[in-house]
Amino acid sequence: MALQRPKGTQDHLPDGSPKLKLDTSARAFRHVTDTAARVLERSGAAFMATPVFEEAELVKRGVGGSTDIVRKEMFTVYYFGDHGGYVLRPEGTAGMVRAYLENGLKQLPAPFKLWTHGPMFRAERQQRGRLRQFHQVDYEVLGSADPLVDAEAIWLMAQVVQELGLKGVQVKLGSIGDPEDRDTYNAYLRDLFTAHLDRLSDDSKDRLNRNPMRILDSKSQEDQELIAELTVRPMLDFLGAEAAAHFSAVRGHLDAWGVEYQVDPSIVRGLDYYRRTAWELHHAHIGAKSALGGGGRYDGLAKELGGQDTPGIGWAFGIERVLIAMEEEGLSIPAAEGPVVYIAALDAEYVPLVASTTLGLRQTFWADFGYKPQKPGNAFREGERRGAAYVALIGSDEAAAGTVALKNMATGEQQNVAINELATVLGAGLSVSERTTGQ
Ligand code: AMP
Repeated sequence: MALQRPKGTQDHLPDGSPKLKLDTSARAFRHVTDTAARVLERSGAAFMATPVFEEAELVKRGVGGSTDIVRKEMFTVYYFGDHGGYVLRPEGTAGMVRAYLENGLKQLPAPFKLWTHGPMFRAERQQRGRLRQFHQVDYEVLGSADPLVDAEAIWLMAQVVQELGLKGVQVKLGSIGDPEDRDTYNAYLRDLFTAHLDRLSDDSKDRLNRNPMRILDSKSQEDQELIAELTVRPMLDFLGAEAAAHFSAVRGHLDAWGVEYQVDPSIVRGLDYYRRTAWELHHAHIGAKSALGGGGRYDGLAKELGGQDTPGIGWAFGIERVLIAMEEEGLSIPAAEGPVVYIAALDAEYVPLVASTTLGLRQTFWADFGYKPQKPGNAFREGERRGAAYVALIGSDEAAAGTVALKNMATGEQQNVAINELATVLGAGLSVSERTTGQ
């Protein structure tokens, strides 16, 4: 049997692939990143790209040593040499903040908005919407602790999914307070769970020492049953005055802008560097346990990475999960456009002229040509199949006269056009048809 892709990875396929669905369509994937680019760049976010592998230490400090991601799901890259190890990045924020600090972006006016998209890697058990290589769109703002920045970040995330046409999306908003508030909360949880130590999973026994809040995030059924029985008080009850004021300011902005959200007192983001605002984006078809995306404030991260103290906030959503949600909602993406012109030779000897004419047009237009000579009927059918706006033919008469026989596929109209005027005629024809369809 031919070799297959690794478990937990996905191919994003071109139009026309057999059995193509929206959630495996490469064009749909591009539609998501294009939509994100449009929305985010309209808000002044700059695109930045960072490596897909980073120092293991960066990921450990950035994501948190007590998280499942670091403890169980890292893809470590070994190579000859005695380096301590790189890991394939499991998320984008640590690398984005590292790059911000390392490249002196802190000197630029703050807050500074950045975005990126790309592959992330986690060695998870594969299921629908849970991959080992998946892709995220990622937005980060550095240099401001203003709640207005939090609200804008949430608004932007909601705006991207709205422009994709998704309806069944819910924003669940919470706050995980300041570090002191979390200390108080962790002490409360430690007391509470220590009394039921025998019922905790082994992982959660370990979490009890390292970071009890993480128990609430546990995927183990026994842990979740215990949590439900104990009616654990939420983190929101433990917010200090400053964190509470911040939370209510964020809510005030969202209310003023008409952003719909639900306060979810149980939100515990799985990453250690979060502070205050935390939220998740959920979708009915993805299931309660798996979010479309999530975000939060991470004021402690830059310092944790050895940089200057810099407040920050960011979010990411999973492109594959967004595509599944779009597929489930029966959404479509804008129709694929065809070439402006498809050019065919009526005889083999004119194929080189057809090719060079096409290459010249490509300075301006999407132009394509037939590699073999074709009869006019076949050339028109081929042009139609490709969705070309025009089909041009070159036979002996046209070659002698330096022209093409040009057919407008929408109107059926045909005319002879000099090769050196073809670009102008096609350009004028397109603007006429744009005007017509625009009326
Ligand atoms: P996180 O960094 O864990 O908050 O994840 C942010 C988003 O990335 C999630 O809400 C998912 O949409 C996506 N994501 C995380 N892990 C996976 C995975 N293993 N497979 C597919 N998407 C994922």
